Amino acid sequence: MREPATSPAAAAEAAEHPSRRPCPRCGSRRVYRSHRRGFIEHALALLGLKMRRCHACHLRFTRLGGSVLLVSDIERLLRRLALAALVLAGLALSLAAMFWFSARQASLAAPGLLVLGR
Ligand SMILES: [Zn+2]
Repeated sequence: MREPATSPAAAAEAAEHPSRRPCPRCGSRRVYRSHRRGFIEHALALLGLKMRRCHACHLRFTRLGGSVLLVSDIERLLRRLALAALVLAGLALSLAAMFWFSARQASLAAPGLLVLGR
């Protein structure tokens, strides 16, 4: 994250909106509530997080306590979690298939069945 800008324009904005917290990317205080877009932002809204957008650099973010959460970071995290869940599901499926085959082999090798085969 970059340091907030300390240009004269930023100082004027700070004087104009003293209570507004600056944009984490460019330091502008032209940060406003933003409409929710897509599933992730609606899910964040359910958690009580309010979307904000910087009118200077168009960064979309939300704040959680003292932390800034960027929408792009949250989307990347969810993509990685989805990939991990997919890999785990595939692993579980192949383990289930292995157990099923070994149980099938065990039942084929059972003495009762061997007697029937003769
Ligand atoms: Zn900005």
